[in-house]
Amino acid sequence: ADDKGIKWGKAPCRYCGVGCCVLVGVKDGKIVATKGDPAGPVNKGLNCIKGYFLAKALYGKDRLTTPLIRKGNKMVPATWDEALDLIASKYKEAITNHGPDSVAIYGSGQWTVFEGYTAVKLFKGGIGTNNVEPNARLCMASAVVAFMNTFGSDEPMGCYDDLDIGDTFILWGANMAEAHPILFSRLIDNKLKNPKVKIIDIATRRTRTTQMADEYIAMQPQGDLAALNAIAHVILRDKLYDEAFVNKHVSFKRGTENQPYGLKDKEAPKEEPKPLTFEQYKELMKPFTPEWAEKLSGIPARKIEELARLYSDKSRKVNSLWTMGVNQHVRGVWVNNLIYNLHLLTGKIGKKGENPLSLTGQPSACGTAREVGTFAHRLPADMVVMNEAHRKKTAEIWGIDPKKISPKMGLHTIEMYRAIDRGELKCLWIQCTNPFQSIPNLSRYRKAAEARKAFIVVSDIYPTKSTEVADVILPSASWVEKEGMYGNTERRNQQWFKLVEPPGQAKEDTWQLIQLAKRLGMGHLFPYSEKGFYKEMWEEYRKFTIGTGKDLAPYEAYQKVRGLRWPVKANGQETRWRYVDFDDPYVKPGEGLKFYKAPGNKASIWFRPYEAPAESPDKDYPFWYCTGRLLEHWHTATMTGRVPELKRAMPEATLEMHPDDAKKLGIRNRDKVKVSSRRGSVILRAEINGRGKPEKGNVFTTFFDETKLINDLCIDAFDPLSKEPDFKKCAVKIEKA
Ligand code: SF4
Repeated sequence: ADDKGIKWGKAPCRYCGVGCCVLVGVKDGKIVATKGDPAGPVNKGLNCIKGYFLAKALYGKDRLTTPLIRKGNKMVPATWDEALDLIASKYKEAITNHGPDSVAIYGSGQWTVFEGYTAVKLFKGGIGTNNVEPNARLCMASAVVAFMNTFGSDEPMGCYDDLDIGDTFILWGANMAEAHPILFSRLIDNKLKNPKVKIIDIATRRTRTTQMADEYIAMQPQGDLAALNAIAHVILRDKLYDEAFVNKHVSFKRGTENQPYGLKDKEAPKEEPKPLTFEQYKELMKPFTPEWAEKLSGIPARKIEELARLYSDKSRKVNSLWTMGVNQHVRGVWVNNLIYNLHLLTGKIGKKGENPLSLTGQPSACGTAREVGTFAHRLPADMVVMNEAHRKKTAEIWGIDPKKISPKMGLHTIEMYRAIDRGELKCLWIQCTNPFQSIPNLSRYRKAAEARKAFIVVSDIYPTKSTEVADVILPSASWVEKEGMYGNTERRNQQWFKLVEPPGQAKEDTWQLIQLAKRLGMGHLFPYSEKGFYKEMWEEYRKFTIGTGKDLAPYEAYQKVRGLRWPVKANGQETRWRYVDFDDPYVKPGEGLKFYKAPGNKASIWFRPYEAPAESPDKDYPFWYCTGRLLEHWHTATMTGRVPELKRAMPEATLEMHPDDAKKLGIRNRDKVKVSSRRGSVILRAEINGRGKPEKGNVFTTFFDETKLINDLCIDAFDPLSKEPDFKKCAVKIEKA
C-alpha cells in the first residue's frame, strides 16, 4: 500500500490485443485508479487514453446488478435460480426436440481463458454441439487460417521486440496509432532513436498513423491482392529472392479459386490445395506486373517496384504489420498468405527484428478464442473437431467418451445468426460481446431476434443493443472483479487476481455456465475445488499444450510475472522468437530456422490471384464504405461509453469524407448526411479534413456509437476460407439529410 492507502494489484488492460500491463489501485473495495506498469514489458509504463480510464468503465450508473427475465415487452427482475432454471429448461427442450445443434453459445475474444474453456468443454464435450463461436470470427479468423495453412501452427513467430529493433515497417491498411496505440508508440520510440527506421503506411485513408509515417501510399479497396502479387512478381522477375532460403524452407501450393463469398445461406466451399514447383509458381506469377497492379490498386507501378526492392534489401530488417484491413476481407486469408509470401521469398522471417506480425484486436483473441479453440471448428491447441485423433485426445483429457464430441463443424458466426432467421437455432447464449450492434447486415438479424425466433440469453455488464433483444439478461462480473488470464498478440499470457467484488448480484461468466451445466446434468465436467478452481482448470487445459510447441507454464508461474510468451521452456523461460534455434526450445542448436509444425518443415508459399470484391461502387451506390475503430472507444462502447471523459472526447460516430467528394455533393463539415447501402441507411455528421481523410471515392465511419448502427450497411459476404465478413468494403450513396 502507498501513503494514500491505495493497494495496487496487477492486471492486463481490459481492452485491446496489445495487452498492456496495468497497475490497478484499490481503496475501500473500489478501483480508484489505474496506471501503466513501469515494470510491464509490453507498455513500459504507458497506457493509451482508454487504459487510463479503465476504473471508470466499471462504475457507470446503469451497471447490471440483477438477473432480468422477459415478460412480454418488459424485462423484470428475477433470482439467479429463476433465470438459470428458465435457461436450462429452454436448452433442454431444444436439445430434446431438435437435437444438440439447435443450441449455441456466442462468446468473445474478451472472454478470459477460463470462460472460453468452460464454454468449449460444456458445449463440445457435454451438450455435444460445436456451435461455439467467438466474436473473434469477425476480427482474426482470416489470420488464423493463414497461419495454419502457411506454417501449420497458429500465431506469430515474431514478437513486440521486433518493433524496437527492426528498421523497416510496412503497414498494410492498419491505423496502428489509433487501434494499437501503445505498440505504435514503441515503433515511434525506435524511430526517434534510429534515423534508419522507415515506416510506410499503405492504406485507403490518411490517419494519425500517416502523420508519423515516412511515406503514405494510397491504395484502392481490394488493391492489396494485386499490389502484393505484383511485389512478388518483381522479386521473382529480378531474382531478388533468397534462393538458398527458398530451397531449404519453402514449398509452393495453389489453392482453390473462384469460391463464392458466402452470400447465400449454408454455403461452405472447401479448398483443395495442389502442389506446385518453384518454376510453376514463377510462371503463374508472370501476368502480375506492376502495371497490371496499378490499375487494380491505384498504387503507381514505380512504387510497387520500390516496395519490392525494399522488401528484399539485405541491409534492412523488414517487418510487415497488419490487422483488420487485411482480415476483414472477402479474401482475407489470401492477403495474409501474400504477405507471408514476400517474407518467405526474401528470407526475412524468423530473425530478430525482421518478421511479419499480424496484430490482434481483442485482449484474448489469441489466449482464448484461438488457443482454447472457441471457434466452431476448433479444439484447444490448434486441434479441430473434424479430426478423429484430435477428438480422441480431447476426450481423454476431459475424461469423456470421444463419441460425445461431434465431428461436424458447428455454425460459424454469420451462419449462426442466419440460422436464427431460418428458425433452425432455438437457443443462443451471448457472453461478453454485443453482436446486435456489431455484425454486418444487422437489420436482418435484429428483425429475426425481435420476432423471437430464438430464445436469447445475454450476459453483460451494461444494457446494450443485444440486451434489447434478449429473453434473459444476466449481470456479469468484469475484469478484476474476477480472477482471469488473457493472451495477447505476441503469445503472452497474463494472469490476474480478483481485486474487488462485482456489484449487486453480478457473477462471472464461468460461474453462470457451470450453473447451466449442473442443471443439464453435466456438472461432473467441472470437478474443480472452490479454493483451487482456476489453478485446477488451468492445469487441465495446460495438458493440451505440452509437447505441441505451444507449451504453457504451471499456473503459479504466471502469478509472479507480467506474462510469459509460449512455448514456455522446461526451465520456465519464455520464447520470444519461434522456429529458431537461438530461442525456440523445439529447434535444436545448429538447426537454424525450422518451421517444425509445417509438413516437411517447409512453410507454404501460396499462389493467390486477384479477385474482385463482393460488392463495388456503381452509379447507384458510388462510394466505398469502410467501418472500423478509433482511439477513444472500445468496440461498441459498452464500457468506454460510460466514461464521461471518453464520451466527451468522442461523443458520436461521424462520416469521414474526402473534401473534393463533399464539395461535389454540396456537403460542408458537420452537415448531416444520409448514408445508404442496399441493406440500410444511417444519418451521420460529415467530417471533412478531420482526424482521418479517406481517398477520393471512399468514406469511413466507426462502429462504437449505439445510436447509429453503421454496420447495418455492411454486406454480410465472408471469406470462403475463414468465414470472416468484410467490414471494409461495400457500396454506399450519400445525400444531404
Ligand atoms: Fe494498451 Fe490497448 Fe489498453 Fe490502450 S487499450 S492501454 S493500447 S491494451
